[in-house]
This record gives sequence, C-alpha cells and structure tokens, in this order.
Amino acid sequence: MTGWQLVRSGRRVRIVPMERLRGDQPYVSMLAVGLCGTDVQIGAGHRGDVAGVLGHEGVGILHGVPGGDRMVVFNPVDVRDQDSILGHSFDGLFRSWVPLGPELPLSTLQEVQPLDPMAVLTLCEPLGTVLYSWELIERSAPAGPLSVGIWGAGPIGLLHVRRAIDQGHDVELVEARPERLAWVEDHSRLAPVHLSVTGHRTPRPLDVAIVCAPRLAMASAVREAADALRPDGTMVLVTALDAAAAAPTFVDATVGRVRRHNVCGNVDPELGMVTAVSHEGKPLVLTGHRGTSLAQLHAAESALRADPGGYGALITHELSPEDAVDVINRRLDGQFRTADGSEIVKVVVRFPDGGRHG
Ligand SMILES: [Zn+2]
Repeated sequence: MTGWQLVRSGRRVRIVPMERLRGDQPYVSMLAVGLCGTDVQIGAGHRGDVAGVLGHEGVGILHGVPGGDRMVVFNPVDVRDQDSILGHSFDGLFRSWVPLGPELPLSTLQEVQPLDPMAVLTLCEPLGTVLYSWELIERSAPAGPLSVGIWGAGPIGLLHVRRAIDQGHDVELVEARPERLAWVEDHSRLAPVHLSVTGHRTPRPLDVAIVCAPRLAMASAVREAADALRPDGTMVLVTALDAAAAAPTFVDATVGRVRRHNVCGNVDPELGMVTAVSHEGKPLVLTGHRGTSLAQLHAAESALRADPGGYGALITHELSPEDAVDVINRRLDGQFRTADGSEIVKVVVRFPDGGRHG
C-alpha cells in the first residue's frame, strides 16, 4: 500500500509516495498533522535543523505494540536531551507512517480518545506547551485577574489568548499584521480582547507579557513587551531569544537561556525563572520553557474535549497531502494567504485512510 510524505527540498516541501513500513517494528499511522510556526522557520531556512520531514503536532494510530492499537499524540522534545526534537533534529510526522525507534520511543506517546472533529487533537501539543507556560506564570505572578499582553497572533499566541480569557484575565493581543487582527476580530469566540498593531499600542502597564513572535521579530517584540510591563512583571519567552535579539533590551544579553532550564514539564525554581534588568533599570521576571509533558498533553486533550468547536476554529485549512503542498510552500515563502485569498492561520494535513493503513 502506498502513502505520502512531504519532504523538504530547498526552501520548499514536495510530495513523495511512500511504501508501508515492513518488519515488526511498532509504528504510527498518521491521521492528521498540524503545521507549526517552527516548521515554517525550519522549512524556510531560518533555522539550522536537519530533519528532512517536518511536523511534530500529530495524531495517529499506534500499531504493533502489546495491548492493541490505540490513538496517540506525540511529545516532541526528548526529556533526556532537549536538542533531540521530533521534526527538527530527526524526521517528523508529515508522512503516512512513522516508525518508533531509539529517537522516538514508546514513552514519547500519549494515548488520547477519539474526538470529533479529529483534527482538533493535533492541537494537543501546542496547547500542552501553552499550559506549561501558564504553570510558570502562576508561580511568578500574583493571583487574581492579571493584565496580559500577548505578542504574536499565530496559533500559539491565539491559544494563549484563549487560555488567558478562560482564566478571567484582561488580554491584549499585539500583532504586526492588521490582516491577522481583522481575522481575529471576525472570530468572536476569541473576543473580548484588545487588539493592537505592533509599535502602536496604547500605553497600559501589564502584569504579564507572553512573547510568541517569529524569530526575526523577537528583538522588537521583546523590546516593546519590556516597555509595557510594570516593574517585576513577568515575561514568558515562547520563542527562542538569542543574545543579538536580547541585547537591545536587557543588560545581560544571555538571559534567553532561561528557557533551557524548564524542560518537558519540569520547573527549575532557581535557574528557570530569573530577574532580568532592562537598560532603563526595570527589573522583570523572565521565564520560558522547552517542550511539554505527557501530563500537560493530557490536560490539553481535556481542554480541547470541553470545546472542540471553539478550538477547531483556529484550524483554517484542513487539507489532503496533495493540496497541502501549495499552502505550506506559501507559508515557507512568508505569505499568509492562499490562492483564493483566505488567511492561513493553522494548517492541518489529513492523511488518507489513517488508521486503516495497518
Ligand atoms: Zn509546534
């Protein structure tokens, strides 16, 4: 039986037929895989990751293990080595069949129950990372309603908006593209939220700033977020902050390394949450993390199950592998619109026959 894989080739992906795996190695038949902002950055050549097949946000059917077939999602970051990441350092999920092996052991899979629409389960991983960020925020910010600014209206930023609203916080979403803000405004499930264009926000002191801007926009987003925070406010780095991007804002340009101390659900109360001082002398609590835990994936599944329609509204394009190629390549080219002009927020690739491959 023949399936499909989306293979990197230059700064594009192309579709290539794939034969079903042979032998008795356990494997996952993919059902649906979401395209993440980091996939776009890798595919566009903005990062050095070597995986030939992208994708780490997926749901599929696990075959070939004792106890029978079951539906699973993936925990992409290896708790033993945070630089070993599914779809970054080794081949990821945009393919019909994914073998388990030394880099992808059984312990990285979390069983989930079927959900309608099934594609919503691809949000388990990104939502799991959002819940991780909020565990860090709850350790560093005062209890009660907070004023929260979120930089970047990609899928992760929008999941953060949803989480913050659900917790009763006052939310401002800051985004560079007015077209994206218009899309958010049309999706009333994400209201009420204050919408601001980067560089034009109304000054309003924030308790918490969550920065999920793309890498190339990190320096300016972090600068603006630091200006907006009150002294001792909390900044969460969702995207990596390298020294060059930190230097215009912080006295110590290495503060972005804080993310490496909180891995796969663990929290280092000392090194994973640091005081970072801005050039103006304002102290801020800086934190961040990498990956997620199986428990956070499970908590994310419960949240999705409580409102699949609301979360599913983030998925703007659910496509076959053939149809996904053009939309993914548009994103790799830096575009946010399909040929028919629709805004690309979250792309999910559906693999034909999914669990029935086996
Ligand atoms: Zn992701």
